[in-house]
Amino acid sequence: MAYQNFTTLEELHVEVTNRCNAACPMCSRNQFGGKDAEGLAMSDWTSEDAEKVFDPQFLNLKNILFCGTHGDPAAHPNALPFVEIAKKQTNATIEFYSNGSARSKSWWAELGKLLGDKSQHQYYRKTDLGVFSIDGLSDTNSIYRRRTNFEKILENAEAFISTGGHARWDFLVFKHNEHQIEDAEKLAKKVGFKHFRIRKTSRFSRSPAGPNKYPVWDREGNLEYYLEPPESKQFQNQIKNKVEKPLYQGNATSDIKATEIRCLNRTQFQRIYVNARAEVHPCCFLSSDMYLPLSPIAKNTIQWIENRYKKDFNSLRTQNWEDLLQHPFFASDLEQSWHNSDEKLYRCLRTCSTVSNPIISQTQDRPALQGETNKSPSNGKKSV
Ligand code: SF4
Ligand code: SF4
Repeated sequence: MAYQNFTTLEELHVEVTNRCNAACPMCSRNQFGGKDAEGLAMSDWTSEDAEKVFDPQFLNLKNILFCGTHGDPAAHPNALPFVEIAKKQTNATIEFYSNGSARSKSWWAELGKLLGDKSQHQYYRKTDLGVFSIDGLSDTNSIYRRRTNFEKILENAEAFISTGGHARWDFLVFKHNEHQIEDAEKLAKKVGFKHFRIRKTSRFSRSPAGPNKYPVWDREGNLEYYLEPPESKQFQNQIKNKVEKPLYQGNATSDIKATEIRCLNRTQFQRIYVNARAEVHPCCFLSSDMYLPLSPIAKNTIQWIENRYKKDFNSLRTQNWEDLLQHPFFASDLEQSWHNSDEKLYRCLRTCSTVSNPIISQTQDRPALQGETNKSPSNGKKSV
């Protein structure tokens, strides 16, 4: 049985570019909010990529996430035509994630028109959605969402909403913005957002400065300041993770390797990921490792894959979906690895095991701000 096929797959998570106007310190595209990560080559989809990825043969495709691991979809100059291609070739709802600070009001108004489809889908996503990652108000948002402009983001969100776009405000909580949650939620309602969601990062646990502070660098690598976790317990990511540290040190003991894997993208979702090079991966986490060998976990992923398969085995630029999904990696090897202690990928142990599942714990839903709205379960994507 193939890992996924034209009938089973329900969600595509896509990264149309790995460029971004912002520099969030916990995002692996940059060095602690300073310059771009060493070795990150810029990649962008072509129109041919978009036509191929959004294959009309996906019979049960319900949702497409325009998001990614190293880029903001709005940073691609052809993001709007790509959304149009997705709309034309599939019946899926679309979730478009952005910091909201790139592009003009008219661009966001166009996106709002494209994502203003009023038909209520039977799918759990219900409607298209623009998700704005805004971590505070005018005096705090750019402490984390560095190089963004709060006033511009609000104007862009208003333009998106004015042409019919359904919008959600995602708020990542830190000590410096936790006192603004209520005011931000009120503002979100006033501006016309349908939903407001709290995000709780799990990344303090692997800060080089310890779990109570996370360094922020300038472009020269000088320390500028520290981010701190929120003081209020309800906004802290409480997940206790005993395996994270040893795995990030490259020390997978036999106890850790014996842990059961429950693949997020095969249990909670039926999802697959396409990165900015049009390469298919089972999830954004493995793809992120393949971009940058920054940690022992990423090195383990790269070694695991490169020891087994030829370069481009997962490229949609050299083959079609049907052949690609029948490749042994997707058809059998990955799933088999979850049942063999010596074969398990460190990344799968870190992200989707019974003792380490940090992704879902990062989201806290709040009641809808107005009307019936998109009832997204936790999106299970990287949260930065
Ligand atoms: S988290 Fe998103 S907005 Fe922030 S730098 Fe990374 S890609 Fe850009
Ligand atoms: S890390 Fe492994 S187990 Fe988790 S979603 Fe990716 S492939 Fe599945």
